[in-house]
Amino acid sequence: MLKQTIERLGGCISASRRRVGVHMKWKKHLFGNWVRSITQSTDRTTWYSGPKERVECVVIGAGVVGIAVARALALKGKEVLVIESAPTFGTGTSSRNSEVIHAGIYYPPNSFKAIFCTRGRELLYDYCSKHDIPHKRIGKLIVATRSFEIPKLNDILNCGIQNGIDCLKMVDGVEAMKMEPELQCVKAILSPLTGIIDSHSLMLSLVGEAENHGTTFTYNSAVIGSHLEGNEICLHVTETNHLKEWKGTSILHPELLLIPKLVVNSTGLSAPALAKRFAGLKNGVIPPAYYARGCYFTLSNTKASPFRRLIYPIPEDGGIGVHVTIDLNSLVKFGPNVEWIDNVDDISSFQNKFDYSVNAKSAEQFYPEIRKYYPNLKDGSLEPGYSGIRPKLSGPLQPPADFVIQGEDIHGVHGLINLLGIESPGLTSSMAIAEFISTRLLG
Ligand SMILES: Cc1cc2nc3c(=O)[nH]c(=O)nc-3n(C[C@H](O)[C@H](O)[C@H](O)COP(=O)(O)OP(=O)(O)OC[C@H]3O[C@@H](n4cnc5c(N)ncnc54)[C@H](O)[C@@H]3O)c2cc1C
Repeated sequence: MLKQTIERLGGCISASRRRVGVHMKWKKHLFGNWVRSITQSTDRTTWYSGPKERVECVVIGAGVVGIAVARALALKGKEVLVIESAPTFGTGTSSRNSEVIHAGIYYPPNSFKAIFCTRGRELLYDYCSKHDIPHKRIGKLIVATRSFEIPKLNDILNCGIQNGIDCLKMVDGVEAMKMEPELQCVKAILSPLTGIIDSHSLMLSLVGEAENHGTTFTYNSAVIGSHLEGNEICLHVTETNHLKEWKGTSILHPELLLIPKLVVNSTGLSAPALAKRFAGLKNGVIPPAYYARGCYFTLSNTKASPFRRLIYPIPEDGGIGVHVTIDLNSLVKFGPNVEWIDNVDDISSFQNKFDYSVNAKSAEQFYPEIRKYYPNLKDGSLEPGYSGIRPKLSGPLQPPADFVIQGEDIHGVHGLINLLGIESPGLTSSMAIAEFISTRLLG
């Protein structure tokens, strides 16, 4: 894949190369075929071998955020290359989540999470309608199951109102239980704007649009670091297969060097680890990464969903509580819980070598949590489903961190944008983050 990308790049960037007056020569690439390699007269990086190419924009990571960013840049007429370490797009956190279009209720007013979630939700509903992406605005109830939770529910309502969601409604327990006969609660917030989406169809559509506007997606290829040439960033790219073979004892050599004008590090769980491998960043700007697995259990032995809407309890530390999610096929899921897990090393994270196993024994903790709002949940009805891992910037018992978007003003490297801590509501926010990068940051 990297081989084809180099060949394609050789064709599409020759004009820009002429403009910057670089010297071009033919060079035998590691895979054995001949490619054009360029060296600028100011080149000072003789210790890095491998073909070197220029490209206007590189997006690293083809999750929903990277894909949305690539599409937005391509629609602005930019030449975009997306580099993804997995064999296809959307295999990371973007296919391991609740697929909920969040309204934007919980997040501190004026935070990135609040701003991007509310704007992203509007953009997403609009995009889904125009492009026939399966989705449903089914609404959600946030429930207080005991009276001591009511003050927290009031705080959540106020926060949502401050975030501009004026259609939220506080309903008493009787009314909520009339709306959802299987529910048990003392009070609830009704959020009519919350919905569900087929996230794979969304990503497929965004990839198609990006490709139609000239974006190249290259899979099985990983970015492993960068160096600076003058004030330009030069990315180090290798085939993911070589990471698999790497034993950790030798130096990892790039097979391709790329000099983009703009780089967006949208590698989700790996983003802080990759950012630490970029040369030239100011000290201490990359926050520590934390990982919290969230497991789902599905409801077996039921033909119909016990609920018509999504049901969320009061948020817990690290997540928004073991909630009820219904997907577009009416499959009922409970989750995600919060299981803090250890860091993996950077090269393993580029290959998504995280532990996604769901421990069947965790069901024992799920039953009492769910029965607080769904008392009729039958013994033995929960089956292990799947899990996703939250790319967090705050650890256990720390206050939740906001999304972090770092440009040159923060880290000091020209043309580099790091997207860090893009946990929930990252799916809902994806098109708004893309809009922000392609308009506000690029002008
Ligand atoms: C349990 C859970 C439930 C969630 N529920 C919701 C929800 O209901 N609604 C919502 O809005 N959000 C939700 N989210 C959040 C949402 O899923 C994420 O914010 C979003 O998917 C992040 O997308 P991304 O593109 O940033 O990351 P990812 O999807 O992880 O994509 C990153 C990509 O980068 C690639 N990569 C990594 N390293 C490299 C490298 N060195 N070189 C090249 N490629 C690399 C990876 O292979 C991956 O494909 C949830 C998250 C979790 C964990």
